Amino acid sequence: MTVPAIRIASVTKSYGALKALGGVDLEIGQGEFFGLLGPNGAGKTTLISALAGLVRPDGGVLEVMGHDVVRDYRNARRNLGVVPQELVFDPFFTVRELLRIQSGYFGIRGNDDWIDEILASLDLTAKASSNMRSLSGGMKRRVLVAQALVHRPPVIVLDEPTAGVDVELRQGLWQFVRKLNRDGHTIVLTTHYLEEAETLCGRIAMLKAGKVVALDTTDNLLRRFATHSLRVKVG
Ligand code: ATP
Repeated sequence: MTVPAIRIASVTKSYGALKALGGVDLEIGQGEFFGLLGPNGAGKTTLISALAGLVRPDGGVLEVMGHDVVRDYRNARRNLGVVPQELVFDPFFTVRELLRIQSGYFGIRGNDDWIDEILASLDLTAKASSNMRSLSGGMKRRVLVAQALVHRPPVIVLDEPTAGVDVELRQGLWQFVRKLNRDGHTIVLTTHYLEEAETLCGRIAMLKAGKVVALDTTDNLLRRFATHSLRVKVG
């Protein structure tokens, strides 16, 4: 039997009195392009941070390709590429240095051929020796994607990767992510934009106040809700 790419069962997380995740259950199959939607503060980033092992849940189980994120962090993390929302880098490293450091984090040496391939497919080859501080916001966002791919993870999670990104870059990014999905990667995308999820995702979970309030195929969700009211809720 194939293991799910991601299994999330009864996951809870509170910050003081604030319940950021109130018992989330989700199973995402290998090869899916899955959308995680919800308004500001719904808990999307908290859930992704828990999957990446950056936030420890209060309860429940998170697994990536069958590996428990808390008890078998190393293997869970090896299977997961995370494109975070925040553009945080050391400004004095070059693009290539950052990717090498990321490779080192996963214990991979001699990864330069793969790094070259990633740089080429993200149109970053010419910037390989540039310091991060000299790159535009859009290029920095592409470096985040490159970093997530360095260890060839089968599952890739992107946390609002197109926030503040212009239309051209947005489309380039989606073309790239679609190709990753066609090549067999499981993609999980968080976004505020239903339009974005609508064109990309096969299934969508709607998160609200730390709970999954709807989970279905994109087509069914659109049919179930009046499109307009769903758009308003998501926006
Ligand atoms: P957005 O779409 O705005 O990024 P989100 O759906 O990703 O929102 P989270 O960032 O996961 O939501 O936040 C969920 C809730 O948890 C929010 O109320 C937020 O203020 C709170 N929260 C998140 N991180 C912390 C933290 N480190 N300390 C305290 N509260 C936090």
